Amino acid sequence: MGRSSPAGAPAPTLRDWHGSTARLDTGTELVRRYHKHLIKRITNQVTARREPVGQRSETVRRANLSAIVRELHDGGPLSRSELVARTGLTRSAIRGLIGELTAAGLAVERPAIPLGTPGRPSPVVRLEAERAVALALEIEVDSLAAALVGLGGTVLASATVVRPRDRVSVEPIVADLVELADRVLRPRRRRAALVGVGIAVAGVVRRTDGFVWMAPNLGWRDVPLGDLLGTALGLDVPLEVANEADLGALAEVRRGAARGADQVLYLSGEVGVGGGIIVDGHPLSGVAGYGGEIGHMPVNPAGIACGCGSTGCWETEVGATAILRRAGRPLAGGRTEIDAILAAARAGDPAAVGALEETGRWLGIGLAGLVNVLNPRVVVFGGLFEHLFPFIEGTVQGVLDRAALRAPRELVGLVPSALGDDAPLLGAGELAFEPLLGDPARWIGRRDALLDRVPA
Ligand SMILES: [Zn+2]
Repeated sequence: MGRSSPAGAPAPTLRDWHGSTARLDTGTELVRRYHKHLIKRITNQVTARREPVGQRSETVRRANLSAIVRELHDGGPLSRSELVARTGLTRSAIRGLIGELTAAGLAVERPAIPLGTPGRPSPVVRLEAERAVALALEIEVDSLAAALVGLGGTVLASATVVRPRDRVSVEPIVADLVELADRVLRPRRRRAALVGVGIAVAGVVRRTDGFVWMAPNLGWRDVPLGDLLGTALGLDVPLEVANEADLGALAEVRRGAARGADQVLYLSGEVGVGGGIIVDGHPLSGVAGYGGEIGHMPVNPAGIACGCGSTGCWETEVGATAILRRAGRPLAGGRTEIDAILAAARAGDPAAVGALEETGRWLGIGLAGLVNVLNPRVVVFGGLFEHLFPFIEGTVQGVLDRAALRAPRELVGLVPSALGDDAPLLGAGELAFEPLLGDPARWIGRRDALLDRVPA
């Protein structure tokens, strides 16, 4: 489960990836600063260990290669000139590094189409999505999903199964995930090396080993999910488990509604409610990864019992069950019943409209507190909340106007998720790519061994 990084430096964390995403749309200067910081950090480590000059330049080369692969992975095909502008590296350094990537089959370079502007057009580089792939898995209360994601973020294959609510014990879920994984992996036989596995789960996860301390809506306690799936999948590549809202936030920041933002609150709503919080470009995870559990903020002391054992948690007022309860629908109805409520509200049905308004009011109350505490630039409404957004936005904005402090309230924008229900799954893919993005040189060295990891 461990990750490694250049020259034995500490393994890259979510911090590093969000550091890189923050650079995306924020201009060349930030990119240059980040790159300088990276080089300085590595150089300091090298100096401290008194490495020979040759080894030091090798460390810098690997960091530069990582910077280029991240730019291409996050930003899509780029010209050499754009890479020069984004990384602050010299043109000749870029040429050499791209040469390494193309030789390894990870990237291809095409001549640019002349635009009639003066000067020679710069060749365009793109990553080869099919040469390095990640397996992404997602465990929700009502469904399981798997996707095979190519380098650069292209989804090459995906599969989903809807599960009955009463089949949420660990063993059948692990067995179903292995089958789903097989379904997306099997067709990709040749030349596709599996980089790693990322798993999104609607639970409270210890990041070091993928141990699920609690997943109230699955009825899980103390489940060693990382170990169980590692054994069951038998893929012998790095495997990481994370909370689905944290991964939803990661995906939205890299490729979705919060692209380029570095103060972000991602709300994930299903039966449970979770939050992915990005502060200064870094995920807020707490001591062990348990942080961000905004669904269990106590908001209503006179409320109802929550699956976590407490009373009146935010998710008991804004989660799927609360909406179904208010609209007088079967509580185990899932998305089908929620969709029926939305359709009824669209047609002006007072019970449905009232249920959504009340839910919007409670969403606004919790959000006002979070806006005051976090001062986010953007709040992304993910999962179920993306579907509710057009119906509840006005109510939520109104509550924020009254209940949040004016200064942070004026700075925050509310947006629906751009990646929709796929955000956590795509985030799991990003998680799995991290070892490659952090040190492509090391990965290229090991690639031949990894080519066998996609079952034939
Ligand atoms: Zn709770």
